[in-house]
Amino acid sequence: MSLPTLSILIYHRVLASPDPLFPGEVDARLFERQLMLLKHFFTPLPLPQALQRLQDGSLPPRAACITFDDGYADNAQIALPLLQKHGLHATFFIASAYLDGGQMWNDKLIETVRHAPGPSLDLRPWGLGCLPVAKLAQRQAAIAQLLGQLKYLPFAQRETLARQIARAGHQTELMLSVEQLRQLQRAGMQIGAHTVHHPILAALPDHAAQQEIAAGKAQLEQWLQTPVTLFAYPNGKQGRDYGPCHVEMVKALGFTAALATDWGASRPGPELDLFQLPRFTPWDRGRLMFLWRLQQNLRQPPPGAN
Ligand SMILES: [Zn+2]
Repeated sequence: MSLPTLSILIYHRVLASPDPLFPGEVDARLFERQLMLLKHFFTPLPLPQALQRLQDGSLPPRAACITFDDGYADNAQIALPLLQKHGLHATFFIASAYLDGGQMWNDKLIETVRHAPGPSLDLRPWGLGCLPVAKLAQRQAAIAQLLGQLKYLPFAQRETLARQIARAGHQTELMLSVEQLRQLQRAGMQIGAHTVHHPILAALPDHAAQQEIAAGKAQLEQWLQTPVTLFAYPNGKQGRDYGPCHVEMVKALGFTAALATDWGASRPGPELDLFQLPRFTPWDRGRLMFLWRLQQNLRQPPPGAN
């Protein structure tokens, strides 16, 4: 007999309508279709409940949880009404610096490229070349190139570069307001911490990483007036984005569980690590591919087993 499994899905944005720049991004229609598939083929549970049942041995077969990372406004505007319509629960991991009009470094670059008048975007002053943006495919390539070039730069350098590049570009408000965050909470959704500025923790000195994790938790607790006990590592790949010392920091700060982005499913037993729970990104537009990929994800070895 196979053990019960917990699949944890990660979402970031749920767009109101498809975005030609990101044809693979989840939009409202696709999200609703995925919710219906989850209800039909899996047992969706609130994450806190699933974690409890994982530990007390009462996890149902094919349990699934929905999570969102970063704190986009469309989580409240688009995803929340669909979750409510289907009676489903989600946990939202929020990078606290960006609420009320902030913008993450990657969105600064994306929106700058999106709105660049063209035919090229001159980033030579920052050593990033002069990127052609006349065609849609060129804008997509420019975004991919810039995100790749900046992601693993030292944190302060990444933030400064993104800010300077965006200064000449276009600012779009994409993130939740504090009021929308409270709206998610009032609707019965769970809120978790995701640091203040979404740094790659492994790229920070230890004291700064600890400060990012602690201050993000404290800020959310002040806004929500409730303990925040769940954490998601930014970018979330074990060994590359965070290490054993960050797991210890998360434990010492009083979190009860933490989520990674390495693929896989959780099972009860000695290999269960509540502070490095694997997750899964469902992006497939087709029904069969979505289910096939969820199925493949259940076959991933537990983290550290390879
Ligand atoms: Zn994130």
